[in-house]
Amino acid sequence: MPYPKLFNPGPVDVSPETFAAMSQTMIGHRGGDFEVLYASMQPGLQEIFGTARPVFLSTSSAWGVMEGALRNLARKKVLCLCCGAFSDKWLDVARKCGYEADAVQAEWGMPIDAQEVQSKLAEGGYDTVTFIHSETSTGVLNDLAAISKVVKSFPDTMFIVDTVSSLSTVPVEMDAHGVDVMLAGVQKALALPPGLALFAVSEAAMERAKTIPNRGYYFDFIEFAKNAAVNNTPSTPAISLLFGLQYMLQQIAKEGFLARQARHAQTNAMIAAWGAKHGFQHFAPDGFRSRALTCFATPDGFDLSSFIKRLKNEHHFLINGGYGKIKGKTFRISNMGNETPETMQALIEAMDAVLAS
Ligand SMILES: *Cc1c(COP(=O)(O)O)cnc(C)c1O
Repeated sequence: MPYPKLFNPGPVDVSPETFAAMSQTMIGHRGGDFEVLYASMQPGLQEIFGTARPVFLSTSSAWGVMEGALRNLARKKVLCLCCGAFSDKWLDVARKCGYEADAVQAEWGMPIDAQEVQSKLAEGGYDTVTFIHSETSTGVLNDLAAISKVVKSFPDTMFIVDTVSSLSTVPVEMDAHGVDVMLAGVQKALALPPGLALFAVSEAAMERAKTIPNRGYYFDFIEFAKNAAVNNTPSTPAISLLFGLQYMLQQIAKEGFLARQARHAQTNAMIAAWGAKHGFQHFAPDGFRSRALTCFATPDGFDLSSFIKRLKNEHHFLINGGYGKIKGKTFRISNMGNETPETMQALIEAMDAVLAS
């Protein structure tokens, strides 16, 4: 095997069964076979999204929809809730799209504070809010219920939520929280190869989109809705990835959605226990930690790059040495996707072996 097994928080390890499912005979997307494939995935997708709305399939990475959601919904002024590399970059992206954009900025490693969101929105004028549920760069799991409650108390404010590294690891409940756009890429918690993003749009957001000029074509929500009504996509989708997604949804149904979440809680706790044993401190505070990955602070004097290199060379496992401005100061271990107590145990034993010699 030329490449190490990925315990990096995205893309993550893809199973041979998933690859096999992706290698089915190609089908055309304007035909009955495709419509059956498309329709077969809706119930499973709606379950993990916690929505009765259609779930759209975008052949792009998550950023396509993150930018596209702004272009469909933002009128003028956007508020970005920032607490790490991905959420901070969303502020940049909003500005690059030409919106007036401000931030509620949490220190990296800390969650978004609902009170600060309340105060900022109370200044007035914001028509759209961006929020990342699980900030993959810091390992912080933000409080979706608390933040959505604040945002929803401001009428006509669109709430765009990224669940890239939380979808299917914990409940996200799009409808219950009044989320207007919920999106995720498939290469993280869903353990597919990259290239596909999933998103759902509230009725209110569809109404808003109709009033926004210059939405373009590729990410136009109206185009997605029109095509979804006939079990299709606006342009040719990554059909092989859809075969993989269909297989993954079948696996989730077979395992049980709750059992899947319990597995993530268990494997995540194994890494927390491993860290505690070696005195590694979490970068995120207790009560606000992702279930899909763990971010540890690098201790003073610890040779992180040698640890990661030896783990890769001697054991063929890849973990991540920090992202963005906390590269080197933190390291991250993923337990997303298909990882089990057995595969996490193998990683733990390998990490222990490296630390012991
Ligand atoms: C990885 C990640 C993204 C970016 O995803 P791409 O697929 O690279 O576009 C966005 N948000 C979060 C939380 C992520 O973890």
